[in-house]
Amino acid sequence: MLDIKWIRMHQDQVKEAAQNKGVECPLDELLEVDEKKRLLHHQVDQLRTERNRASAQIAQCMAEQKMGEAEALKDLVRGWNRTLTEYEEGLAILEERFKELMLTVPNLVSPETPLGATDQDNVVQKVVGQPTSFEFVPRDHMQIGEELDIFDFPRGVKVAGSRNYYLKGMGLYLHRAVQQLALDLLSDRGFTVMDVPLMVREETLQNAAFFPAGKDQTYELQDENKWLVGTSEGPLVSYYAGEIIDLSKGPIQLAAVSNCFRKEAGSAGRDVRGLYRVHQFAKVEQVILCENDPAIADQMLDQITRNAEDILDLLELPYRVVAVCTGDMGAKNYKQYDIETWMPSRNAYGETHSSSSLLDFQARRSGLRYRDKSGELRYCYTLNNTAVATPRILIPLLENHQQADGSIYLPAALRPYMRGLTVIPNK
Ligand code: AMP
Repeated sequence: MLDIKWIRMHQDQVKEAAQNKGVECPLDELLEVDEKKRLLHHQVDQLRTERNRASAQIAQCMAEQKMGEAEALKDLVRGWNRTLTEYEEGLAILEERFKELMLTVPNLVSPETPLGATDQDNVVQKVVGQPTSFEFVPRDHMQIGEELDIFDFPRGVKVAGSRNYYLKGMGLYLHRAVQQLALDLLSDRGFTVMDVPLMVREETLQNAAFFPAGKDQTYELQDENKWLVGTSEGPLVSYYAGEIIDLSKGPIQLAAVSNCFRKEAGSAGRDVRGLYRVHQFAKVEQVILCENDPAIADQMLDQITRNAEDILDLLELPYRVVAVCTGDMGAKNYKQYDIETWMPSRNAYGETHSSSSLLDFQARRSGLRYRDKSGELRYCYTLNNTAVATPRILIPLLENHQQADGSIYLPAALRPYMRGLTVIPNK
């Protein structure tokens, strides 16, 4: 959420950000409601002051036995009370609409963000490694999975519908190995690693700026009045919601491993085959809470992007980093980099990580504040990035590391989590 005072003074910037991000934001209505609300607030305050003054006068008249004067004043107060009730009802309606409209305002866009409408307009920043070349006809991850008997799609669909799967044997080990590798790396780098609630209140997702826009992507547990998280970013950002946090020793670094649930509404027909786009997956997520300072936020964005790159280096995978353009970035993001890993079956890089800086957009909604060096209370900045998301990462892992004999080479960093194996052998 942006500050309404800031919005009033920078309307063009807000309109431009909404337009560039392709976000529907009725700014004119917001400003009109804001104006009416402030005016009505002022009138209510004035009337209350008048009423209080009259009440004091009534008390004095009664004490001085001026009953006629006291009765006239009482009539006046009764009239004011009726008006006040009307005003207060009107104000409640305006307050409600104001809150709704404020939630439609997207975050601003950093000056470095490329302008564009789709992922085709993202700009490559860095390429690491080369697309893998093979001296045999490579198989895609579906064929590999079937041959090694490490996942089962038909039964996933039978039991849970489309975009569902079972991981079996070494498939499950690999899925857990990448998560544990990521957790160990983050833990060694000072992150507090956590298991978090996955069924959360609506306000948690609203405060973390996933709602209202992302509601159609989220599974609701109607009887519970709760929602299944699409990422642990929500519960991680909300961990300190409403609190004054201590940043005197530097940024707070949180990481969680969780299942993530997504409806994938709007993706009908896209990536229906295989592990790329599924309804349930697991993710190790990084979240940073830091001081309200753009230079620190930039440094932290580099750091969490670097953490993800280091994991890909340990997995010995080729990847590239792209600056995400305005039309492809999330409405809540100020700056975003995606990491795309080479996927031979797609003959392309596919998105595996998303690294974002949000300034104080989430912190304002979540009431996340700290005391700066002068003792003043300020909203902090928040950032997040994937450390690893699986089973999507199993696509490049299996496809890039397949060998002519049908086995899968395991990078050294994974072996401790794979019972010491150097390969997943062909059956
Ligand atoms: P996001 O939280 O949307 O930024 O996504 C972070 C990462 O999670 C993506 O880069 C993917 O690796 C993974 N991911 C997102 N959605 C899905 C999905 N429906 N199925 C599998 N993996 C996903």
